[in-house]
Amino acid sequence: MVKMYLDKGFKKEELWKTRSCYGTMKKECGNCKTCFRKAVAFINNDIFNPELFEQKIDFRKFMQQTIDKKRKGEIKDTKEAMKRIGII
Ligand SMILES: [Zn+2]
Repeated sequence: MVKMYLDKGFKKEELWKTRSCYGTMKKECGNCKTCFRKAVAFINNDIFNPELFEQKIDFRKFMQQTIDKKRKGEIKDTKEAMKRIGII
């Protein structure tokens, strides 16, 4: 979805203003599933900005949860993102 918006000419700053998190903090929490998905999508499109999130995203924790749920499509995206930011 992020790629689709970028392809349509949206600027990354506009995507950074979107809100996905269910938390009530000023910034997005960085600790819920929607934050994680958003971070993965942003990393994979080279527009990740850690400033958008209240706390550092724990990719390993979410990766494990993802594996547990056997969501193969998401695992591929997550691996790609982790490689890009140098975790694996
Ligand atoms: Zn969140």
